[in-house]
Amino acid sequence: MRSAFDAEPLLRGAALRVTRPRLAVLSAVHEHPHTDTDSIARIVREDLGEVSTQAIYDVLRALTAAGLVRRIEPAGSVARYESRVGDNHHHVVCRVCGDIADVDCAVGDTPCLTASDDHGYAIDEAEVVYWGLCPACSTSTES
Ligand SMILES: [Zn+2]
Ligand SMILES: [Zn+2]
Repeated sequence: MRSAFDAEPLLRGAALRVTRPRLAVLSAVHEHPHTDTDSIARIVREDLGEVSTQAIYDVLRALTAAGLVRRIEPAGSVARYESRVGDNHHHVVCRVCGDIADVDCAVGDTPCLTASDDHGYAIDEAEVVYWGLCPACSTSTES
């Protein structure tokens, strides 16, 4: 059985003050990866009652800056957030419904960081987005 996600040590580890909105937002992102701000706000409000959208944005910005949350923004999509950080994984995005899934790096350890020409930059992240149709959408276009 998966133990309940505990956001508190993560906040402390990142030297962030532990507040109820921060705990709720981080848990929401953890339990619903690749979620947009509106959905996060809805989940957090189910938990805490009224929380302003601005407060949600502020918390997301703080969590992103602290490296606890990664912001992803596929072309044509609103920003989404996930708590799986630091492993340079990629995403596959459905062209029809916008659904997003995680894709591990194709070969071993962050090979995509080895650019054929780094132009002298110290590269620490490579963003690869695979586009296509999710199983649900590819089935419905076949029929
Ligand atoms: Zn789809
Ligand atoms: Zn992801």
